[in-house]
Amino acid sequence: MTDPHAPPAPRSGLSLHTRMLLGFIVGAGAGLLANWFVGEAGWLDGLIHYVTDPIGQLFLRLLFMLVIPLVFSALVLGVVEIGDAKSLGRIGGKTLVWILVVTAFAVLIGMVCVNVLQPGTGLSQDVGQSLLAAGSERAVEVASKREGVSGLQILLNIVPKNPVEAAARGDLIAVMFFALMFGIAATVLQTDGTRSFVSTVQGIYDICLKLIGWVIELAPYAVAALLFSITAKLGFDVLVQLARYVGTVILALAIHFFVVFPLLLKVFGGMSPKAFFKGAEPALLTAFSTSSSSATLPTTLKVTEEALGVPRRVARFVCTLGATANMNGTALFEGITVLFLAQFFGVDLSLVQQVMILVMCILGSVGAAGVPGGSLPVIAMILVMFKIPPEGIGLILGVDRLLDMCRTVVNVGGDMAGSVVIGRSEAVAEARRTQRVA
Ligand code: ASP
Repeated sequence: MTDPHAPPAPRSGLSLHTRMLLGFIVGAGAGLLANWFVGEAGWLDGLIHYVTDPIGQLFLRLLFMLVIPLVFSALVLGVVEIGDAKSLGRIGGKTLVWILVVTAFAVLIGMVCVNVLQPGTGLSQDVGQSLLAAGSERAVEVASKREGVSGLQILLNIVPKNPVEAAARGDLIAVMFFALMFGIAATVLQTDGTRSFVSTVQGIYDICLKLIGWVIELAPYAVAALLFSITAKLGFDVLVQLARYVGTVILALAIHFFVVFPLLLKVFGGMSPKAFFKGAEPALLTAFSTSSSSATLPTTLKVTEEALGVPRRVARFVCTLGATANMNGTALFEGITVLFLAQFFGVDLSLVQQVMILVMCILGSVGAAGVPGGSLPVIAMILVMFKIPPEGIGLILGVDRLLDMCRTVVNVGGDMAGSVVIGRSEAVAEARRTQRVA
């Protein structure tokens, strides 16, 4: 049987990421040439309108198609996995706290960096507005029902009146809430019926992963088309903007990886960061080269038990759950990407909206699959929710290779750091218990 969690195998000799990079270079290069030499020609508008835009749209639609089943199944399974392990109830609770708190930290770091460095600003207002007008038709359509709602209403809207309608409207947070409740009930009620429901959900999840693999195969063509459209319209400036975005993501990831993890390890894990990085190295390198937390899981487990000395029951639970649910790097990346594109397209976001984005990024990282590009469907959906043109995804896809590798290292590093901290706290609790008995 093939492993549904394995990253898609390259079809041709070149890896998918290399083909994506080629798509980026070809699309951006052709777009720049078109912009310089025939910028105002009518046929160029026609080419963009009838050829390159629809190709990009097709790719985005395929991504959107997968969001609801993927997020629903990933969240239900995430909750069930925590609750299922009765003997691990306490570890489950600690893991949940670790995931929520450390991921929130990661998103905050990302959001502070993007607000301070403003990588998306710099394009003239007119260009931003015309891009917005051209690209946001569908975004506005999907999000129109959210027009003019107050902060309180936004909070109330987290609970859907009708989950099917919420899903149809693309209201991701309401769907996530529904999935969490479903997962909790499926955990509390252990019957034959609920167990077979859970295995059906597992099937849906596996199918979604397979489909993402297929859709991502189309990414090189979509990248070329989307990049052509944008550079033919905007010229060289847009590429400079993109370099600033890449720099911001890498800086924020580095702060989380080299400052937050070492602090947590030292204070709560009783382990020197040097020893951690040395022991964790094989898993970090695997994460870097595969861009997939799920594909790295076997190495993560081995290294966490053998090199970092975490007890097997803790390592198994935290790392297995963490491979899909604990994604610090992904959450940070989602936050920066959404705010960068908002800046790029000139969409103003209020503080309440930014807080909503923070919550969405935490839940979105739990709902993202641990495969290369697993967070892209979730980002596309968050963009739509906040009326930011989802076409912006095309901009970042071409540089996603490097960012995916880096954020996956942070994702896997977070699973191992969490295991060390939780393993230590379990050992301390155990020692206290034996002392009391003696
Ligand atoms: N590639 C990431 C992982 O597997 C997920 C993502 O952010 O796309 O951890």
